[in-house]
Amino acid sequence: MASNFSGALQLTDLNDFITPSQECVKPIKIYRKPGKVAKIRIEDDGSYMEVAESGEEKKLQKARITLNDCLACSGCITSAESVLITQQSQEELYNVLQENLRLQQTGELDKQKVVVVSISPQSRASLATKYQLSSEVAHQKLTGFFKKLGVHHVFDTTFSRNFSLLESCREFIQRYYEAETNKTSLPMLASACPGWICYAEKTHGSYILPYISTTKSPQQIMGSLVKDYFARKHGLIPSQVYHVTVMPCYDKKLEASRQDFYNDVYRTRDVDCVITSGEVEKMLEKENISLGEVEGDTSFSLMSGLVSPGGGLVSHIGGGSGGYLEHIMRYAVSQIHGTSVESLQYKTLRNQDFQEVIVEVEGKKPLRMALAYGFRNIQNIVQKIKRGKMTYDFVEIMACPSGCVNGGGQIRPAEGQTNAELLQKVKESYTAVPCVQPDLWTGVREIYEDWLGGMDTDKARAMLHTQYHGVEKIASALNIQW
Ligand code: SF4
Repeated sequence: MASNFSGALQLTDLNDFITPSQECVKPIKIYRKPGKVAKIRIEDDGSYMEVAESGEEKKLQKARITLNDCLACSGCITSAESVLITQQSQEELYNVLQENLRLQQTGELDKQKVVVVSISPQSRASLATKYQLSSEVAHQKLTGFFKKLGVHHVFDTTFSRNFSLLESCREFIQRYYEAETNKTSLPMLASACPGWICYAEKTHGSYILPYISTTKSPQQIMGSLVKDYFARKHGLIPSQVYHVTVMPCYDKKLEASRQDFYNDVYRTRDVDCVITSGEVEKMLEKENISLGEVEGDTSFSLMSGLVSPGGGLVSHIGGGSGGYLEHIMRYAVSQIHGTSVESLQYKTLRNQDFQEVIVEVEGKKPLRMALAYGFRNIQNIVQKIKRGKMTYDFVEIMACPSGCVNGGGQIRPAEGQTNAELLQKVKESYTAVPCVQPDLWTGVREIYEDWLGGMDTDKARAMLHTQYHGVEKIASALNIQW
């Protein structure tokens, strides 16, 4: 099989890669013709030659694999798939910006796209660490860098994470009470990690999917905010906006490409293109500039002029993967037990990536939650659910060991630096940003009203929730022969 690989990615980048369970089933269907046998020879340049019995040689066509082929496959998993992506790259962003420039020169301004870049806090921490900047300054300089290239607006996905956290909390309470009559309501499993979702859909299908929270990830809620709320505020239709996110992993490209996040009416995706932290580093190299030298842009805006409570960058408590456990536990304690907790006590179990938090209130059933990062711990959780031995009410599941700050798309260690040293620095940068509580932020409440008509409305469910699809094993069904 031959395919087009992204030059940006190497096998060593795949820290969330388990092992391919099957060969890629997509490339080329070859039907064996009775009585005829051909050999395939691999040339020095990697091309494939079909050599017939007669000695006749024919160069085989290169297989092109789209992202959707990968999403429909039951073979390899997680970021290994993203090497196949051609639509989701910094080159695509450059193409859109160049086209905008051309349209400006020809006076066809109405055909230009409004380009929006939404930066994740994990990517910002990675870039801030690489260029030895504070998160605040890194954000200003990234804003300046993208705007100089022709981007119109630069946002921060921490803002959309407010909605993801609030919806997850509300969903948990709903499931908690439903659990008395519905045995797949609990444990609720986190949904923000596409590496985990991809694995669950392909490997465990309909058995595990009902347990996964339907709340969209911060990236996809940002997609809904930008293509629906922001576009309307600016008198645009969704397809007039080109939305790029900067993310810590390649799996976010898979997530953005899901059919569930495609708008059939306007023929556009909520997130058109995902670039990783490492790909931003490559863009800086291409422009021959270090982030430290870029002129910062201080016009910090969360969305349509909205600012944070302190006016600058904000974060959420609870670690580098978004703090889902932290927020859900606190909310559950207040809603179910009618009290509050000062701080949560995390108990490390088998390893640092498997921790539990139990909150006991006298006379009440304890609330039990865990975080499970990396596939070893995920498999353990899945097996416990299958055997009916699960005791947790919620599990914050993330595919990468150490979570999103350690995603496969983050910038690699410098020469002589270990992974652990770099990770520690990225974590410090990530946690140096002041935290806000989503439910106490007036701006978030206002957008719920203005955009969605309040919480728990039909529009809120459509914009903030998604669904999952078990994937049939298709290798045998396709009757592929090599
Ligand atoms: Fe991406 Fe975070 Fe999941 Fe890793 S844990 S695959 S960085 S979403």
